[in-house]
Amino acid sequence: MTTSASVPADRASASPGGRTVTDRLIEANREYADVFTDPGMDARPVLRVAIVACMDARLDLHAALGLELGDCHTIRNAGGVVTDDVIRSLTISQRALGTRSVVLIHHTDCGLESLTEEFRHELEMEVGQRPAWAVEAFRDVDQDVRQSMQRVRTSPFLVHTDDVRGFVFDVKTGLLREIDPA
Ligand SMILES: [Zn+2]
Repeated sequence: MTTSASVPADRASASPGGRTVTDRLIEANREYADVFTDPGMDARPVLRVAIVACMDARLDLHAALGLELGDCHTIRNAGGVVTDDVIRSLTISQRALGTRSVVLIHHTDCGLESLTEEFRHELEMEVGQRPAWAVEAFRDVDQDVRQSMQRVRTSPFLVHTDDVRGFVFDVKTGLLREIDPA
């Protein structure tokens, strides 16, 4: 989890002039569309790569990896965990849209490091129903990346599992550190 201590006040204020954050996004989109030109691409990623990453707000994949519009598939969730649904997306990415490489990116100071599977129990106590999904909390980010690589490499649904690499993104330095799969 992160703090909001360093967030500029004008960006953090919830409703300047009564606008919601979504209103602000819609306004930004109009400006985007004003200068947008049809890139004339089809749906197949130019670099034939799918990136699975944590949803963390400090990880700007396109900026951090020098990616441009149309270059890659980005599949994100809490932790960058290789769940069944991530395998679903990767399977479609490879079999229907031509990607061949998989890059996994977890990061330092991940919110999942401060949770445990007890979170599911607490949810059950609160709402009377235990979620079907695992929290996928972890203590060792390197080991978590290794497990994710292993899940991709051993999936029977994927056709390209020879170029699967895993990294930890440092939210303080912006640098990636590659994780040895062994
Ligand atoms: Zn995270």
